[in-house]
Amino acid sequence: MAKNFAFEIEKETGINVFSCYQCGKCSAGCVFAQYMDIPPHLLMRLIQLNLREKALYGNTIWRCGSCITCSVRCPREIDVMGIINAVRCIAVKEKVLPEEKDEYLFDEIFLDMIIKNGRFNEVLSVIKFNLKSGKYFKDADLLPAFIEKGKLSSIKSKFTSHKIAELQKKIK
Ligand code: SF4
Ligand code: SF4
Repeated sequence: MAKNFAFEIEKETGINVFSCYQCGKCSAGCVFAQYMDIPPHLLMRLIQLNLREKALYGNTIWRCGSCITCSVRCPREIDVMGIINAVRCIAVKEKVLPEEKDEYLFDEIFLDMIIKNGRFNEVLSVIKFNLKSGKYFKDADLLPAFIEKGKLSSIKSKFTSHKIAELQKKIK
């Protein structure tokens, strides 16, 4: 385990977390902050204070929807979302998985889809999630809306194999 979490995060992301001055703008703009036990600005503080376990075991990294709003709003131009992603990667490597297994399952499905197809597909993700979680009829009521918005036709939509290979290279 690294002695200093801030240094570990900097090594992963190239971001110096000490440039955060705790203004809270990231959390104020985060639509998921109300569902997190530690809002984004406090996660930054935990990293600054080297409270590694608290940061890893909180649900912030699993509740974040990767919408990038926090990074865009930060007056210090800190990529908060990138930091959250880095903490999530460390948690996965160390098998610190969320209590609510569905959050991790969704994350896995999301990433697998991006790696294989180069893009996310809502309909396929719902089908895969329901099959893997055993909640076969979860969100079944959304099907008419999917059909109405023409989402079913995009099930087979993916990037060209060249673009996917490029993406996979970047991820590795
Ligand atoms: S918006 Fe930026 S400076 Fe403000 S608390 Fe969040 S990370 Fe820190
Ligand atoms: S990227 Fe995550 S933490 Fe940042 S605003 Fe979006 S949901 Fe919130």
